[in-house]
Amino acid sequence: MTDTPPLPPLDPPGQHPVPPRRWIEGDLNTWERIEEAMEALRARRPEGAEGLEAWLLDRSEFDSLLSAESNRRYVRWACHSEDEAAHAAWLEFQTEFLPRIKPVEDELDRRWLEHPARGALPRERWAVPEREAELAVRLFREENVPLEAEEEEIASEYGRICGSMTVEFEGRTRTLQELAPYQEEPDREKREAAWRAARRRRLEDAPRLEEVFDRLLPLRQRIARNAGFPDYREYKHTAWGRFDYRPEDCLALHEAIEREVLPLLRRMREARRRSLGLEALRPWDLAVDPEGRPPLRPFTRQKEQVAKAAALLEGVHPDFAAELRWMEAEGLLDLETRPGKLPGGFLTTFEDRRVPFIFANSPPTHGGLETLVHESGHAIHALHARWQEPAGNRDAPLEFAEVASMGMECLVLDGLERIYTAGEARQARSAALEDIVSGLVSIAVLDAFQHEVYTRPEAGAATRRSVWLALQERFDSGVDWSGLEEERASAWLSVPHIFEVPFYYVEYAYAQMGALALWRAWRREPAEALARFRRGLALGGSRPLPALFEAAGLRFDARGEGLRELMAEVEEAWAEEALAGGRR
Ligand SMILES: [Zn+2]
Repeated sequence: MTDTPPLPPLDPPGQHPVPPRRWIEGDLNTWERIEEAMEALRARRPEGAEGLEAWLLDRSEFDSLLSAESNRRYVRWACHSEDEAAHAAWLEFQTEFLPRIKPVEDELDRRWLEHPARGALPRERWAVPEREAELAVRLFREENVPLEAEEEEIASEYGRICGSMTVEFEGRTRTLQELAPYQEEPDREKREAAWRAARRRRLEDAPRLEEVFDRLLPLRQRIARNAGFPDYREYKHTAWGRFDYRPEDCLALHEAIEREVLPLLRRMREARRRSLGLEALRPWDLAVDPEGRPPLRPFTRQKEQVAKAAALLEGVHPDFAAELRWMEAEGLLDLETRPGKLPGGFLTTFEDRRVPFIFANSPPTHGGLETLVHESGHAIHALHARWQEPAGNRDAPLEFAEVASMGMECLVLDGLERIYTAGEARQARSAALEDIVSGLVSIAVLDAFQHEVYTRPEAGAATRRSVWLALQERFDSGVDWSGLEEERASAWLSVPHIFEVPFYYVEYAYAQMGALALWRAWRREPAEALARFRRGLALGGSRPLPALFEAAGLRFDARGEGLRELMAEVEEAWAEEALAGGRR
């Protein structure tokens, strides 16, 4: 598996034909249709290697169409979180369809793994999917099916509570997403007022969110025990398919971040404090430009946002810009902020057409543009890998999937002059570098928090609070929280991952290291770095994690051993921006 594998054929940019169907016509949009296809698969007894592969590829088509239905229902709800019918349709899939599908998927997995011709299938295509199937069989428990449906339903409460938070600010009702850009205002009083308004609103619902977590925690522990694991951390670590690192590696990574990244963040915060001429940095002083320049507001409408993101991608490769423009023309973007839309941004795929779809709730800031560049990285990844078979091979593990998106954010940094003046580009670049560094520290905190919470027999609200505050002290970057103890103690409640996709966070650190290594290579040998990157993308999820990094010219670094070198590169680039601006 270490040889460089041949690339699958790539579509020309903007030309992505609907894949031909093997056997299912139409959508799997009702239970009757799903059951009919599922029973047809179940009734077959494939013979020989050829028969087995054909059956597996037919099953892959079933899985793709199922995923398309699930994702389309999720997107409809995410875009209209107050639409009861949309929520009910998504819940129907999660709580009524999935529990009836999962036992059959388990049965099909077993039939494959017990098939006499299993070893005769081409390894290059089937080794990774086979490992996934073995894992699924190992973890599957009939009694966990209703518990997982219940977990999904409770976790969706989180999105509903947060999606409907609004505050009165400057005479208008605003979503918390609309308030965020105020953190970039040079007027300090306005920043503080907006920060306090948002946090006060969050604090109002803190007891409800704690209660949601109190219901999730024992449920998750039960799921882990049913599957034969000592605790939920061990279970989830296995269930996320982390074949190449252990919880101990994550703990070593937290220490490496504390040692190599936190000191740089402290230097950046101290420079910010001096530049702003403040006695102490407060939480509302972290997103404003330290030189007092007005905030960047690169777009107002989606059209302009797409045009500017495309201009940035153009600087990396013209094909990348062409793909984003194609998605716009095909209606595969919903980026504008409006009440009743879920917060955040994500990329999903509609597997019936094998096309990506970008959801975002974008503020009109440079950050809104960065989100679109990030999701475009995921979209370009999906389009590079769209001819991989079976379906699972089109999906990269998260640690590498985020290299595509975070890597794209890094690669556009040196071309910000395409849309900004030289001064604005410097402003955006130094902010982005500071965000990368503070982001790594946040990842360590959020991951370490979950390690603690899920390995204690009981982690009620009081324990969670003390664990969280201890981590705030350990990773303190020099921000003054005095008088804001409640706001500080409850800050983890605003992180959706903790509720919706537990333990999905450390992936961002692995990917950020990969993205920075890509950027470092690109600054020295752009053509070579880009060619390797695209080769890695085209592999989708068809290789184990270390092999994907390797194909992209990178190294998977489980314990953060390369952080020192990467931080030196970041600090140098950051200092250049400051010097060019004449700050010191
Ligand atoms: Zn992402």
